[in-house]
Amino acid sequence: MTHFLDHAATMPMRQVAIDAWVTHAQALNPGSQYGSGRQARSVLDTARERIAELLGADPIEVIFTASGTEADNLAVTGLYAASPLDRIITTPIEHPAVLATVRATGATVDLLPVDAGGHVHDLSLLDTPAALVACMWANNETGAIQPVASIVEAAGETPVHVDAVQVAGRLPIDFHALGATTLAASAHKFGGPRGAGLLLTRRSPAPLPVLHGGGQERGIRPGTLDVASAAAIAAALEEAVGEMDAEILRLSGLRDRLRSGICELVPDVIVHTAEPALPGHLHLSFPGAEGDSLIMLLDQAGIEASTGSACSSGVNRASDVLLAAGVSDYVARGAVRFTLGRETTDETVDAVLAVIADVVSRARLAGMAG
Ligand code: PLP
Repeated sequence: MTHFLDHAATMPMRQVAIDAWVTHAQALNPGSQYGSGRQARSVLDTARERIAELLGADPIEVIFTASGTEADNLAVTGLYAASPLDRIITTPIEHPAVLATVRATGATVDLLPVDAGGHVHDLSLLDTPAALVACMWANNETGAIQPVASIVEAAGETPVHVDAVQVAGRLPIDFHALGATTLAASAHKFGGPRGAGLLLTRRSPAPLPVLHGGGQERGIRPGTLDVASAAAIAAALEEAVGEMDAEILRLSGLRDRLRSGICELVPDVIVHTAEPALPGHLHLSFPGAEGDSLIMLLDQAGIEASTGSACSSGVNRASDVLLAAGVSDYVARGAVRFTLGRETTDETVDAVLAVIADVVSRARLAGMAG
């Protein structure tokens, strides 16, 4: 039996999302004026309204995108283009969808410092205006929850983009209460389809268009809309929000048992996940072992986990997120991330605890790749 512990990378599609997707797979172009177009439009409108309500936004503020990555790109590049200023404030622990996009603008980049627990802790850079601030709500590797409300407050007139890809469907989101300018989410992280994302965008200031086309989605994300995916996103989000309170408690209990079990069974473990953190995240290092060896040995034992960022797996190097939190290269290279989700049970935790000591000692014997 295989145990999937990589929910921060993606998660199995929820049955409600599959059902909504299949039901509306034949929906035609919601931009057409004839009957079948109007029918598709009505499904799209219902999905948009439901998503808006679940995330504390107005329906017009919901922009459907093709991924979380696309939502981050449209927001960062578009807000930068909309501003006369040439400075962007972000953090060193952003996902590449934000950090690489920020770098690609050519703007002067200032990075908010991060403490040893992986949390942004000094907001003084926000005292000077910038074209935008981009900060994630929770980190995909460590799970560390960032002080986004304080960042929005301290930013004042500077627009703030929040990458909430790891938070949507896992913790409550109220876009209006948060006061951010834009917010990115990704459907496959909460049991919707892969290749479908959301950008919440206030009416003003709005990002300038980066893509050009038929003017759909307020011109911010032109292109014929995928109605079936929109319906599936709404169904997945609705179920995720409905079970959220119970899941937060259940997952944090399982995660705590996994952490204490590993720390008891294996010598010299360094835990990177520090509170406040996402309930299902556990990122730790086994110094002396190579992350990729650990992942391979776990895989052989039927446990699917990752070293951290989905995008950097397969590349044998220390994570920038851990280095930014002051972790040494040696320790960072022995990192493994377990992320729990809806199908995780006590049995999953037991399965990891049954093999972890042997896996780590074998990986430590194999040593570091030099
Ligand atoms: N931002 C964060 C924090 C992520 O964890 C991810 C995915 O790993 C993304 C953005 C990109 O989302 P997507 O996979 O939908 O492109």
